[in-house]
Amino acid sequence: MDRRDFTRTAILGALGAGALTACSDNTGDETAYPSEDATGGPNVITGPSVRWRLASSFSRSLDTIYGAAEFLAERVGELTEGKFDIRCYPGGELIPSLEVLSNVQTGTVQMGHAASYYFIGKNPALAFDATVPFGLTARQYNAWLYHGGGMDLMRDLFSDFNVINFPGGNTGMQMGGWFRVAVDALSDLNGLKMRIPGLGGQVMNEMGVNTQVYPSGEIYPALERGAIDAAEWVGPYDDEKLGFHEVAPYYYYPGWWEPGPALTFYVNRESYDGLPSTYQRAIEVAASEANVNMLAAYDHKNPAALQRLLDQGTELRRFPDEVMSRAQEVTRQLLEDEAAQNEQYRTIYESYKAARTDSYRWFGTAERAYADFAFGAGA
Ligand code: CA
Repeated sequence: MDRRDFTRTAILGALGAGALTACSDNTGDETAYPSEDATGGPNVITGPSVRWRLASSFSRSLDTIYGAAEFLAERVGELTEGKFDIRCYPGGELIPSLEVLSNVQTGTVQMGHAASYYFIGKNPALAFDATVPFGLTARQYNAWLYHGGGMDLMRDLFSDFNVINFPGGNTGMQMGGWFRVAVDALSDLNGLKMRIPGLGGQVMNEMGVNTQVYPSGEIYPALERGAIDAAEWVGPYDDEKLGFHEVAPYYYYPGWWEPGPALTFYVNRESYDGLPSTYQRAIEVAASEANVNMLAAYDHKNPAALQRLLDQGTELRRFPDEVMSRAQEVTRQLLEDEAAQNEQYRTIYESYKAARTDSYRWFGTAERAYADFAFGAGA
């Protein structure tokens, strides 16, 4: 049995166990319960046929990040014997990429998949569902979310949008992006034109950068013709596909504005409440597996992609400490200013900040000592 089969069997087993427990609870929802066939064979799902639509914010070519939605849909289908069919649509095909959340909210589609910082215009606290500059890494974020009270806070936040949220992937630590000119000092940022969205863009702005936002398909031509001097996207695997290395020689790191950006599945509340409990459980289980799988895919694909970029002449550069230090100061001020005037934001920020303090202390001990010693050999 290969790993994929093992995982599938384990999850089917777990789901079956959950369904049997639900059966003994006798909640009266018979459609959701497994039954034994006449031959005494294995339990099968006897629930209703359900068809849903899922709108992703991402283009099909980004197979890791868009692929998480198709991965979830496939798993949900398997877990429900094909009864629960979720059809996925890439960004822009059914719904514009940046309107996914509002369309799940109204029920135009039952599900969506995006990075919640796309929607900070609706509520700035949504940034904490994805990432903030100098925030939690992927592991630290999962720790906060699953065990540190983060999920309760995020569920409260999304209830304002008539949505129930499920963690749905993480890119891991991002790169700092592609630069046509070298940044050797803080002063080199002054007047630089860079494609960088969100809070990271606000911080760059405060440091003298003229920030722009382009969707993925428009970044390369803007960089090529010199309309911008720099651009960030995700990391080696995705960036290579977008071809930035052909038009910018310097690849900076780390992407301090996105230390562990999380993706989220959004489910319309009434649609979710109308599902048999086993189907609800299938979404939760499949999203959880997609959450693990996306990070693993990036961690597997990025090393080879980075090597290919280096082989083609890309020059790796680390952001100077004075850039990092100033960015950290500006970030702290932006977060504190928002927290001072927004109670909901403040409640989430305080929890997130406490988790970050604890996590940094712990990760700064054994993890850091090991990384400094062992990873340095491969740098
Ligand atoms: Ca990015």
